[in-house]
Amino acid sequence: MIDYHVHLWPHAERADEGELALDRISRYTDQAQAAGVGEIALTEHFFRFVQGRAVVDRWWENCAERGGQPLNAKAEAYFDHHATADLDLYVETAVAAKKAGLPVVVGLEVDYYPGRMDKVSNLLAGYPFDVLLGSVHWIESWMFDIFSDAMQMEEWDRWTYSDVWRAYAEALSELAETKACDVLAHPDLVKAAGRFPDRAVVDECEERIAEAAASSGMAAEMSSAGMLKLCREDYPSPSLLERFGAKGVPITFASDAHGVGRVGNRIDVLQRTAVRAGFGSVRRFRSRVGEELGFDAGSDNP
Ligand SMILES: [Zn+2]
Ligand SMILES: [Zn+2]
Repeated sequence: MIDYHVHLWPHAERADEGELALDRISRYTDQAQAAGVGEIALTEHFFRFVQGRAVVDRWWENCAERGGQPLNAKAEAYFDHHATADLDLYVETAVAAKKAGLPVVVGLEVDYYPGRMDKVSNLLAGYPFDVLLGSVHWIESWMFDIFSDAMQMEEWDRWTYSDVWRAYAEALSELAETKACDVLAHPDLVKAAGRFPDRAVVDECEERIAEAAASSGMAAEMSSAGMLKLCREDYPSPSLLERFGAKGVPITFASDAHGVGRVGNRIDVLQRTAVRAGFGSVRRFRSRVGEELGFDAGSDNP
């Protein structure tokens, strides 16, 4: 089994306050192995890094704000808080962990920044990444899944649920078209708030998401992190997983852990779900090239 989505820092911890060293990564791989997971992808957020901010800075200035909420200023404050780490040091440390024999691959979780993805790709091409996750956490400059922030949650009242879902699916399709990333992370993240439009709109959006994955050649992530959110459901939903299967979209498994404790969490459950849905393999990556690992590959199966 694999866990292809782990973060080294909790959101509440500033990146420059935690030690970034091999022993932190070895605690992650120890925990993974205890959970029966043979390989993890280190996928820190792109917005953690000063080099990342340099190429996407002020992207929020072109975003519409509804109802006079200062969401653009919020996005700027978010970057002020998070974009403090050194991408060179992160990659060097992850590569060193790999060279030391720890079962890790070097990755990053990259958000969709409209109009900036060429610059993002140019920056990331200079690093030896194995896998890049693509995510949509923002609709315009609104972070629709930050439940702890009253202003972000109030924004839900300014949209219909259908409009939120359609805007999310549109952003995810645009991200896939850029071909900047290899895996669609938590592909139906829009459900995190537990707010669903009519079934017909859910179907329409899920079809759009599955088609985006299929036409771009990206894999889709199965993630146990949805259980921690208000939707109380893994990503993707059973119906979206079925659509991925029907279109031949490969899958990865993910805990989206933001600390060592959840590394490998419920990956075994995700794999059983995948088998029941008819999948016979999981995809892992080396130098951004995918490789299928059959579930029955015996000892070679991480
Ligand atoms: Zn994410
Ligand atoms: Zn994540």
